[in-house]
Amino acid sequence: MSQIDSLPPLRDVIATHQLKAKKALGQNFLLDLNLTSRIARIAGDLSNTDVIEVGPGPGGLTRGLLAEGARKVLAIEKDSRCLPALQQIQDLYPDRFSFVEGDALQIDPLAHLTPPIAICANLPYNVGTELLVRWLTPKDWPPFWSSLTLMFQKEVAERITAQPGSKAYGRLAILSQWRANPRIALTLPPEAFSPPPKIHSAVVHLTALLEPRFPARADLLEKVVATAFNQRRKMLRSALKPLGTDVEDRLIAAGIKPTERAEQVPLEAFCALARQFED
Ligand code: SAM
Repeated sequence: MSQIDSLPPLRDVIATHQLKAKKALGQNFLLDLNLTSRIARIAGDLSNTDVIEVGPGPGGLTRGLLAEGARKVLAIEKDSRCLPALQQIQDLYPDRFSFVEGDALQIDPLAHLTPPIAICANLPYNVGTELLVRWLTPKDWPPFWSSLTLMFQKEVAERITAQPGSKAYGRLAILSQWRANPRIALTLPPEAFSPPPKIHSAVVHLTALLEPRFPARADLLEKVVATAFNQRRKMLRSALKPLGTDVEDRLIAAGIKPTERAEQVPLEAFCALARQFED
């Protein structure tokens, strides 16, 4: 029996600490430890990596990360009801596991960690998307993290990995693919969670590239892409009008037909277009 097996079953942890799932906190728990270990393995070999886990809840994924050999896990949890369950894990792993109570959107946990750093989370979907965008748009690149392993609504996972020409292709695909390698590693049916959500979910694994895939200034790329997809059904020469009167010339200089729609334009061409706005 491994050390982690001496913890009580997750169902008992939930009953003992009265962790009835709260909708407002997006609580859909993973109770199958084979599955949480599988998700931890998606993050890769963690034996030389510190892991930030966001939203550990009763600690199912935390157990997976520790069982799979993460060097250290630091968890950030907003729901104070979960803290006794996390304390139980810390008592078992005083050197490898610690946790802080708080909102992951407010806390900067970096002081406690040594690179390389991986982030792993089964988060409420809205918080997950906001954090993903933040992690992909830091001031400097490469970022503090080397990989992200994150649960999303399947539809959001498809937006992250989408290719041009598809409905799912947009800002999230471009941000994710410009400076990282995203892939859908696992899809999960609602029954994998307790309580089951209404939709299917998917685990996305992203590894940070050392350099962006194509040169561009991040602020300009973000602006061009946000403007282009704001009116995704319009031709680019109209959709990009808010960026100035000479957008048609800039599109042509970037090798993009002004009559194309944002959905059809590959990442490389968006980067070329962002470079056209550098003057
Ligand atoms: N990781 C656990 C699992 O897989 O069973 C729980 C997943 S549940 C979908 C999301 C967790 O994130 C809950 O424990 C919730 O309290 C926590 N949470 C929600 N918003 C948060 C935030 N802004 N910062 C930190 N934790 C948050």
